[in-house]
Amino acid sequence: MDSADPKRLTDFLTAHPRLFILTGAGISTDSGIPDYRDAEGAWKRSPPVQFTAFMEQLAVRQRYWARSLIGWRYFGAARPNAAHQALARLETAGRIDLLVTQNVDGLHEQAGSHNVVDLHGRLSVVRCMSCNHRLPRADLQFELETRNPRWAALDPRVPPDADVDLSLEDFSSFDVPACPVCAGILKPDVVFFGESVPRERVEAAFASVKRAQAMLVVGSSLMVYSGYRFAEAAAAAGKPIAALNLGRTRADHLLTLKVSAPCIDVLPASIQGLA
Ligand SMILES: [Zn+2]
Repeated sequence: MDSADPKRLTDFLTAHPRLFILTGAGISTDSGIPDYRDAEGAWKRSPPVQFTAFMEQLAVRQRYWARSLIGWRYFGAARPNAAHQALARLETAGRIDLLVTQNVDGLHEQAGSHNVVDLHGRLSVVRCMSCNHRLPRADLQFELETRNPRWAALDPRVPPDADVDLSLEDFSSFDVPACPVCAGILKPDVVFFGESVPRERVEAAFASVKRAQAMLVVGSSLMVYSGYRFAEAAAAAGKPIAALNLGRTRADHLLTLKVSAPCIDVLPASIQGLA
């Protein structure tokens, strides 16, 4: 059933006090982080970088880090919104078995959620692909700006978007920092297209689907299989599934309840009295 009434979601949450929760980009759009898919689930902008291209081509890394240098100013400044906070309160109230997010923004942890699996990693960490050295993305920002003062000075017309459109720029002069330990290739600690999600994260999610009484999808169209498979597993196990998402989801045919609305409009209201 399709509804925009927060009361329907409250009823679902009341009936199923132990939830497996999966969140996606739609929960972070009100924190200023753009959703790369439209209401039909299609790409609105250029799709993300492919892992193999990133590892094999300096030009791809130059383009990635140049865009990232600018995008990070917005991305790194994003703060959790009322929907993230509502889920943190639900966890405190003991109603969440596990929160799995497809987002790489770390906003659930910032909002106070503890039991979180970052399915696709976190942009706040950078990892060396040779020696596994890790460093904070914020530290790399200083390095990127120091090496590329012309890019650092680029400008305020750029939209608040972590993947800014610099398609007309020449990236060949961009100086990409190497690993400070072994001079290897640095990569944000997120799962790129063509890379698989680490197995322990997937197993933790499937185990929670089994334990939980129901599944709640928040702000995801589930177009990416890495998230959709959990809805398939929940449905196969006979667990009811509710989705709060603006627009259609790939799992619409599996849903017990569909609330088609912005997360921030519905989620905080729907947990009143529960958390
Ligand atoms: Zn290294």
